[in-house]
Amino acid sequence: MEIPLEQSYAAAVPELSVPWRAEAPPHPELVWLNEELARELRYSPAWLRGEEGLSLLTGQIDGTTAQAYAGHQFGSPNPQLGDGRAVLLGDLVDTGGHRRDLHLKGAGRTPFARGGDGKAPLGPMLREAVIGEWLHALGIPTTRALAVLSTGEQIAPRQGVTPEPGALLVRVAASHLRVGTFEYATWHLDPEARERLVEYTIQRHHPQADGPLGLLEAVVRSQAELVAQWMLAGFVHGVMNTDNMALSGEGIDYGPCAVLDVHRRGAVFSSIDRGGRYAYGNQPGIALWNLSRFAETLVPLLDADPNQAIEQATAVLERYEGWYLEAHGRGLAAKLGIPRGEQTEQAGVGTAEVEELGAALFDLLEEQEVDHTGFFRALGEGSAAALFKDPAPFERWDARLRGLRGDGPPAETARRNMAHVNPAIVPRNVHLDAALRAAHLGDVQPVRTMLDAVGRPFERRAEHAHLEEAGDGGEHFLTFCGT
Ligand code: AMP
Ligand code: MG
Repeated sequence: MEIPLEQSYAAAVPELSVPWRAEAPPHPELVWLNEELARELRYSPAWLRGEEGLSLLTGQIDGTTAQAYAGHQFGSPNPQLGDGRAVLLGDLVDTGGHRRDLHLKGAGRTPFARGGDGKAPLGPMLREAVIGEWLHALGIPTTRALAVLSTGEQIAPRQGVTPEPGALLVRVAASHLRVGTFEYATWHLDPEARERLVEYTIQRHHPQADGPLGLLEAVVRSQAELVAQWMLAGFVHGVMNTDNMALSGEGIDYGPCAVLDVHRRGAVFSSIDRGGRYAYGNQPGIALWNLSRFAETLVPLLDADPNQAIEQATAVLERYEGWYLEAHGRGLAAKLGIPRGEQTEQAGVGTAEVEELGAALFDLLEEQEVDHTGFFRALGEGSAAALFKDPAPFERWDARLRGLRGDGPPAETARRNMAHVNPAIVPRNVHLDAALRAAHLGDVQPVRTMLDAVGRPFERRAEHAHLEEAGDGGEHFLTFCGT
């Protein structure tokens, strides 16, 4: 059952990683295994639970590497980041024919560790697993956890003074190529190596792309679509540094991230984001800022004439907003039960009208402190008015919505469609935090329940009803970047 991992990245651009092996954890134990994902990767869950499987999941295999990358962190360039506490185990082709990376976080110090201890605490690794499963279940491109293990080691506290249980996260990603990878290549490598990196990235993610300009277009478009879906789901990534933006179009690196309770443009959950750079409402703009950094790395490869090259790159970046609005409008129409497609082209419901209605709605939700997730679910169930302190403005808005819906499908069909796009279950701050605290103290059952619930987020199951409540203090919740 041993499936040898390939090292396609190290083979293509050896300058961008160093051979490195994970530290062997003293007493590794599986806390959670993603059996569905294991099968997708052609691993039998039983084999992964056995001795050989454990060697793989703890990185005790040959050929592993630590990747170099750079990045802009909170707007400032950092030429030397990289896998400080992680190794790339390798890659394989899954049952769907897609090449996927296996990556191990919490694997001990690497040559890129700088001042860090190379370790990862259990809570944040489980948080990354929960968020990945939830986004995946919503159909939003994301890296996912194959497994979370405890190492049997107590590590230095991230918050407070009590040592924390150490953990490992085995992450599966379309790849670990990031904007920061290209920044590193631009700042440290020669043009020939950079061209090889472009080639590898195109071949791996955007094989239809024509050269570096085509790659830029594909990456800009996929990020516009990704962030549009985050906004609709009420997801706040928390650290959209360029080293945390993947070129595959998947979301990656869920540290101090969270999901909105009350809809607030200014919502920030990260304790280190004091300026609110990565606030919920700033995400579309920040993604474009990051993509502009990506475009800069490609400029020297676009055209011998720098002015021409900049013009070409700028023209692509200028299309970001259109792609974003198109994806956002499409998703919002589905959330609001406005039928689109051919039928509504005739009825004339365009992106602009949906977005205008959406802007009015989001103002209303913010003014009246209405829960983001709860609103959309209640709208489909015909009970949204009860969420407003003053329902009159909502009722006026709702009349506009009904006008846009026109005849639409029969009410029952519309209701069913909306229940398939508006989740009942989101990993709410209070519940996720409580589950992670329990895991920290040795009880992993609540986080297993959470993982089960977020995996089928559109279903209302009696045993998960408590997870739908926003609880107290959601607005003041902070997640710590001591990930
Ligand atoms: P992140 O904020 O998790 O995306 O990490 C930013 C950078 O810091 C990356 O280069 C990480 O590898 C590195 N890093 C984060 N935590 C640690 C740690 N405990 N030890 C070593 N490096 C770390
Ligand atoms: Mg990172």
